[in-house]
Amino acid sequence: MANSLDTLEAFWQQQSALYGDAALLGIPRGTASFTEQQPNVLPVVTSDPFRETAPAAQQQASGIGRKKTLAEVAAEATACTACALSRARTKVVFGQGSEKPRILFVGEAPDKDDDAAGLPFSGQTGALFDRMLKRMGFARGEVYITFPVKCKPPANRQPAADELSACHSFLQQQISLLQPRYIFCLGRVAAASVLNTSADIDTLRSSEHQYKGIRVFVTHNPAALLHNQGLFWAVFEDMKRFRAVYDREIGDKPPMPDAAKPGKNG
Ligand code: SF4
Repeated sequence: MANSLDTLEAFWQQQSALYGDAALLGIPRGTASFTEQQPNVLPVVTSDPFRETAPAAQQQASGIGRKKTLAEVAAEATACTACALSRARTKVVFGQGSEKPRILFVGEAPDKDDDAAGLPFSGQTGALFDRMLKRMGFARGEVYITFPVKCKPPANRQPAADELSACHSFLQQQISLLQPRYIFCLGRVAAASVLNTSADIDTLRSSEHQYKGIRVFVTHNPAALLHNQGLFWAVFEDMKRFRAVYDREIGDKPPMPDAAKPGKNG
């Protein structure tokens, strides 16, 4: 595991040394840097909240409209058998982190390590996520991490539409209770679940979105990075864009380390 992560870091440094950040972010050599050329402001796309038209019975069954605690919602998820994913799970992976987070990260689905631990991003993908998080300047304890389905799909496949639909009320309730300032969707499935969209990942990455007044950002799933090192630069671009917004609005973090010098802080 360490080797593959080290390889990704080495790739990152090598590409930056060869081409610089600007070229890797799609800016021709000799022009202004990404930061100088763009104000780091994405166009904002306002999406209708997913399943706003869900039947009242479904919402009532999910507890929407009643005041619950996060622990009560987690207990419901732990006992849930609403979809087929309940049959093969070891542990329900409800979520983890601060109950007053500024950022809610939404991944794709629990993997086998998460399923065994009952916690999100527990294994190799989690180690990479931790590096991304640290590079952005955050620790796990100050953010919240969850998935749009709380049980592991078999063979690490993507969750099916009916499974996402069955589980969506838990995600809705988490967002409602946590009230994050920002939602960061990791991958197309996460973004589709939060934003009710079928757009592709690059289209989603190219805009900032909103969910019930909460600013939503999209980048690739860390699991995808483990299989495609080239995505590192797209993710780095997204991280920088998010940090630019965070720095303008909150401004309580030291500068984000440059990708060309990750050794010291990465
Ligand atoms: S994935 Fe969600 S809806 Fe399906 S069994 Fe698990 S908790 Fe219930």
